[in-house]
Amino acid sequence: MPTTIMSGCATGIGAAARKALEAAGHKVIGIDIRDAEIIADLSTQEGRKQAIDAALTACRGVLDGLVLCAGLGTHVRPAGKIASVNYFGAVELLDGLFPALKKGQSPAAVVISSVASAHLPWDKNPLASAFENGDDAMAQAIVNGAGEQGGNLAYAGSKNGLTVAIRKRAVPWGKDGVRLNSVAPGATETPLLQASAQDPRFAKSIAEFLPPMGRRADPAEMASVIAFLMSPGASYVHGAQICVDGGIDAQMRPTQF
Ligand code: NAD
Repeated sequence: MPTTIMSGCATGIGAAARKALEAAGHKVIGIDIRDAEIIADLSTQEGRKQAIDAALTACRGVLDGLVLCAGLGTHVRPAGKIASVNYFGAVELLDGLFPALKKGQSPAAVVISSVASAHLPWDKNPLASAFENGDDAMAQAIVNGAGEQGGNLAYAGSKNGLTVAIRKRAVPWGKDGVRLNSVAPGATETPLLQASAQDPRFAKSIAEFLPPMGRRADPAEMASVIAFLMSPGASYVHGAQICVDGGIDAQMRPTQF
């Protein structure tokens, strides 16, 4: 039975992914701010360290799977917290748990990015140097200084940084036999989307963010792709970002892929 650590398993996409992984035979150890085996606040450096230490203890230093779903939406204030959870709360867990994954059975990791990762490209991402330097305080200062634009900057910037961080790890992780991929969901019916849609600053753009398929996704439609990427059927999928977005990325950027 593969042992898999998951973040963000309390609600939404993470809760659905946990169900799918357990149905596929994984023993899941969850990390979340609530309703999980390991309670930790991934918005702080101490919380992230505590999560990594507790995860390594729980899996006794040997891990077969890692699925990182924890994230905050554009509506959260202060917006700097969005960058802390969405970028540092994923990348520090990836790097902290990599040594345990290297010892696992057919090890694999999946990180939940977003279609928004393409909205603020790396060469125009104001958070790029803070991410390269691992400087959470600098990222928070940039975001919190952006006023009303802070939420969008933090969300798109941190998801772009996360996708880049995963692609940059494709070579070292591949050499050690650990598969690493990301999923880029489009609008999915979860508490995060509901909260952003209720914020007057984002209500209109979220209402208009409808894909060619004409509806939002159910979390189970993300979970099935995550479970596939974690399965032996995906044994040659590595360094990829899979858009699960009802076609919205193709609609918005038909000539870029
Ligand atoms: P959600 O709010 O249902 O789930 C987020 C999870 O992260 C929850 O379990 C929550 O408790 C946990 N979390 C939040 N802050 C935390 C913290 N400080 N420490 C530890 N855990 C924390 O939202 P969701 O939509 O299921 O989001 C899951 C992932 O999918 C996120 O990374 C989100 O950015 C991404 N995503 C969602 C959508 C969407 O439309 N819902 C679209 C693209 C990407």
